[in-house]
Amino acid sequence: MTEKVYLADSYAKELDAKVVRASQGRIVLDRTIFYPGGGGQPIDTGMLAADGRRLKVIAVEKDGDDIVHILEGDPGLREGDSVRCVIDWDTRYACMRYHSALHLIDGVIETRYGSGMVTGGQIYPDRARIDIDMQGLSKERVAEILEEVNKVAREGHPITAMEMTVEEALKIPRLSRTETGRKLLGTLKSVRVVDIGGVDMQADGGTHVKDTREIGKITLSAYENKGSKRKRIEITLGSL
Ligand SMILES: [Zn+2]
Repeated sequence: MTEKVYLADSYAKELDAKVVRASQGRIVLDRTIFYPGGGGQPIDTGMLAADGRRLKVIAVEKDGDDIVHILEGDPGLREGDSVRCVIDWDTRYACMRYHSALHLIDGVIETRYGSGMVTGGQIYPDRARIDIDMQGLSKERVAEILEEVNKVAREGHPITAMEMTVEEALKIPRLSRTETGRKLLGTLKSVRVVDIGGVDMQADGGTHVKDTREIGKITLSAYENKGSKRKRIEITLGSL
């Protein structure tokens, strides 16, 4: 099993690791900071430094409990070799800010507006989009909600992650608001919960910033009406 250091320390930019399995360009390490994608957050790109060589990581995949780093060509790495993981930090950090922004929007909608729900989302390094199911939602209303979200972000709420048992997780009403979500939770041994202090709690395997002030200013960049139950919004974040 690969130790997923990105879950414990989302700010780790470099990490020494050992090759435990190498099959041509597919490398499994004993531990890694490369995020394999999921929950709307894209994979990390970057490189493995080995023997003075810089091997580009072009894709990252989950394989059971392992993380597979896919390199260009066959780098000739062997089991036991030492490598240094280096992720493209600017891209990752941007994705962390967007990921936390989406949770915050979800949390503010749930706690301050009560009747809405974020039903999907996708994160990019330069923008993010989410689908919201909320009665009577309009572009003006979204702008108003985002103003409230920006206010809450500026208050500086801590963002932390914790592991809990499924029983504990199911007691948190917001954590699994849909039947499919509850079923999925039921299949897990433990659940990682990302908590934005006082605003939001979600089962999540992604990487986040540690304080809502790191999100920066959220701006509505696009609004699309995709039906009565689905409004798609796109946001961009200001520089810090
Ligand atoms: Zn998430």
